[in-house]
Amino acid sequence: MILKGKTALVTGSTSGIGLGIAHTLAAAGANLILNGFGDADAAISDVKRHGGKVAHHPADVADPEQIADMSDYAQRDFGGIDILVNNAGIQHVAPVEEFPAERWDAILSINLSSVFHTTRLALPGMRQRGWGRIVNIASVHGLVGSAQKSAYVAAKHGVVGLTKVVALETATTGITCNAICPGWVLTPLVQKQIDSRTQANGNTAQARQELLAEKQPSLDFVSPEQLGELVLFLCSQAANQVRGAAWNMDGGWTAQ
Ligand code: NAD
Repeated sequence: MILKGKTALVTGSTSGIGLGIAHTLAAAGANLILNGFGDADAAISDVKRHGGKVAHHPADVADPEQIADMSDYAQRDFGGIDILVNNAGIQHVAPVEEFPAERWDAILSINLSSVFHTTRLALPGMRQRGWGRIVNIASVHGLVGSAQKSAYVAAKHGVVGLTKVVALETATTGITCNAICPGWVLTPLVQKQIDSRTQANGNTAQARQELLAEKQPSLDFVSPEQLGELVLFLCSQAANQVRGAAWNMDGGWTAQ
């Protein structure tokens, strides 16, 4: 229970990777503030079984004012945020000249600008308490590109850059800031990409295999639980000097 007494906010934690991370942190003793548009009641009761305090805040992280509300709520009801996991994210796939400008703006605000806003609001409390962990769920697309993902790749490269700057600005403190760069993880976000391939060839199993074979040499998905364990390591004392890293967990994707 290395996180007993700490409070973690995980954005976008009603499903997928965020929910997996919330489970791991709660199992290590943390109190949890969940966030996201999925089934909040189901997520709360799921994470509550680890025994800590769990709540959900419905902030749309595209909106800085709603992020500020969430930060005030965390201060009021939990005494502040000790562990900030910036995980909320969306995807849209289209060639750059057909990419809807409105999708570009949404991806940049949800996947990148939200990380700036949550971070700037969480840092003063972390500095006061002399300890904090900021873990940004970037992507292999924070390190390399893929066709048709202009906004996502730009935003995730931005997250990796912001992570380095925050790590430098907190380098002499008990606060660390790192990014995790997952390859394919089978979540609703990726299921949508498998579904559109299935529409083209009619075979889900084949669509999954093709998706993996194009990029991920292990031919297996990363799991939310594995990512949760990496977040837990970054929250541990052993990781005190891991600062500004962009740590890939990608089945070999970026080794190619
Ligand atoms: P997901 O679609 O399962 O979950 C996304 C979560 O974000 C949901 O809880 C959703 O409600 C929430 N969300 C979306 N828009 C939001 C908004 N405006 N405000 C608040 N919450 C919002 O996706 P996932 O695959 O679990 O992705 C989580 C993160 O991991 C994303 O940042 C994604 O880019 C990243 N990632 C995913 C993969 C993958 O293969 N699945 C790989 C690398 C990185």
